[in-house]
Amino acid sequence: MTASRVLVLNSGSSSVKYQLLDMRDSGRLAVGLVERIGEETSRLRHTPLASGGATREWNGPIADHEAALKAVSEELAKDGLGLDSPELAAIGHRVVHGGRSFTEPTVIDDAVLAEIERLIPVAPLHNPANLTGIRTARALRPDLPQVAVFDTAFHTTMPEAAARYAVDVRTADAYRIRRYGFHGTSHAFVSRATAELLGKAPEEVNVIVLHLGNGASASAVRAGRCVDTSMGLTPLEGLVMGTRSGDLDPAVIFHLARVGGMSTDEIDTLLNRKSGLIGLCGDNDMREISRRIDEGDEQARLAFDIYIHRLKKYIGAYYAVLGRVDAIAFTAGVGENSAPVREAAVAGLEELGLSLDAELNAARANGPRLISRPNSRVAIAVVPTDEELEIAAQTYALVERNN
Ligand code: ADP
Repeated sequence: MTASRVLVLNSGSSSVKYQLLDMRDSGRLAVGLVERIGEETSRLRHTPLASGGATREWNGPIADHEAALKAVSEELAKDGLGLDSPELAAIGHRVVHGGRSFTEPTVIDDAVLAEIERLIPVAPLHNPANLTGIRTARALRPDLPQVAVFDTAFHTTMPEAAARYAVDVRTADAYRIRRYGFHGTSHAFVSRATAELLGKAPEEVNVIVLHLGNGASASAVRAGRCVDTSMGLTPLEGLVMGTRSGDLDPAVIFHLARVGGMSTDEIDTLLNRKSGLIGLCGDNDMREISRRIDEGDEQARLAFDIYIHRLKKYIGAYYAVLGRVDAIAFTAGVGENSAPVREAAVAGLEELGLSLDAELNAARANGPRLISRPNSRVAIAVVPTDEELEIAAQTYALVERNN
């Protein structure tokens, strides 16, 4: 029997999220995460889905990523799914920044590691953590193919007109300043699943994907290829997010430095962690914001309105970029669950061919579904994203091709 399992690893600076999938049926065998790595109060949560067992939790110090992965392997081994299993075909790593170098999932070797390392200046928070995860996994299973799946890859098809900022070309090139975009794995998965929902091939449809989680981004996808996206050099640009400001006049930064006396790091923290919904109203969870609005809270209402206003601007912009839009797809935590956000985002856009069915929008359901009226020229869809499945599928396809 050929090995058919793929372990998907998403390594952050102090956490590792993982899923083990069997690619014969894309079934999930186990999921879990290790948090607060390097602290006394590390925590491992593991759910052995294959055996139907209950979630196991372990608390105590986990010193580093190596110890974390070993602990994960031990948990997996309890159900016969350990990292040493011959059934394991590959490990797929989520890597945030692939720059312009990586346009596809890539089997990791020393040269690939060196290139991901070279990209650290454009992804100082994410790539080092991803690298640690890769190095640790390679040390544990040096014989196993390990694949990097890049958050930026899907966006590398953007034309120069969309990817370039209007900044002095030499300076931009010297510092590799351009729009890279993120959440690419999700935009790829959701745009394809939306085409499928419409009964069409990806090449036949133009889709605006709205990935609205704690981080949020929009993309314009023409015939299966990304032609624009809202995140830029970093994930700060674009939509209003849980804690990020999204778009603003760059001169705000000079102003905060010159007039406010803030340091670069302070401004970075302000715009990435203390702005967006949390900065506007003190909450970044859309459920809480909706609840406060229902109680008549003006601050929550304004935060919601700013969030929606920005979203609408991107829908309009990407409508113009694409020329013809077949579908708008909502995904991620807010996009999949918040009927009020979806309703407000498309309200008043009937002239653009968007006609929402209020009942379908309000109904709860799990899979991909349409929430537009049958006569809506543009389909409006809710399409749950599944980045881990997409990473596993891309990893497995590459390993199979190479076999
Ligand atoms: P990320 O992966 O970026 O951390 P998610 O895609 O999991 O985020 O989305 C998390 C967000 O989804 C939460 O902050 C919350 O605002 C929103 N969310 C989750 N469930 C609901 C719900 N039932 N209604 C409205 N918003 C929700």
